[in-house]
Amino acid sequence: MLRSKALAIFRTLSGRYDDTPGPRHFIPFSSPFQALIGTMLSAQTTDRAVNGIVEDLFSAYPTPEALAGAPVGDLENRIRSIGLYRTKARNIRATAWKLVEEYGGEVPRTMEELITLPGVGRKTANIVLSHAFGIDTGIAVDTHVARVSRRIGFTGEISADAIEQDLMALFPAECWGDINYVLIRHGRAICRARKPRCPECPVREDCRYYHETFQPDSG
Ligand code: SF4
Repeated sequence: MLRSKALAIFRTLSGRYDDTPGPRHFIPFSSPFQALIGTMLSAQTTDRAVNGIVEDLFSAYPTPEALAGAPVGDLENRIRSIGLYRTKARNIRATAWKLVEEYGGEVPRTMEELITLPGVGRKTANIVLSHAFGIDTGIAVDTHVARVSRRIGFTGEISADAIEQDLMALFPAECWGDINYVLIRHGRAICRARKPRCPECPVREDCRYYHETFQPDSG
């Protein structure tokens, strides 16, 4: 796909989801530490479920030092309503330990350092860097970003890392921080996994899936 066409699609979608004032992220936070832990908890669960537990968690354990000393059983009880809570309880505690032991209780500001933290991959690191520090060195690729990107034709890749590389090559760096938000919004609202609502999609004329599915002879 041409970069100019990709950018036009992104601008259309970005305008469409420019309906909520405030920052373009899904998990509320008031510090880089909260952004990191909230993003780790959000993997494979809904934002609503995470939003329902973080206030209690951060009031009990407001700092890396406090979280590092938390009993794992108590953490499990506090986050029990979200998916993979046992693994997440261990990972957020171990990450808090590492923040205290190796980073002076601060969240590091580089991809290389962030992905050494237990349970932190490129997706989480990209979100933390972008939202907590305003540093966009990559693009967070989750299931919505991957699906919408493949359907539209931004990429033909399968793996998150390869999709991220394609998106970074296609879009100028000033867009990278918003791509995750915009494509997640589109994936939830219209380009849904099971039944994409193509007839009401504002970018259908430029979408590969739409042409292949609804206008197979149009080229
Ligand atoms: S036209 Fe359909 S497949 Fe393409 S982006 Fe829109 S909803 Fe998704």
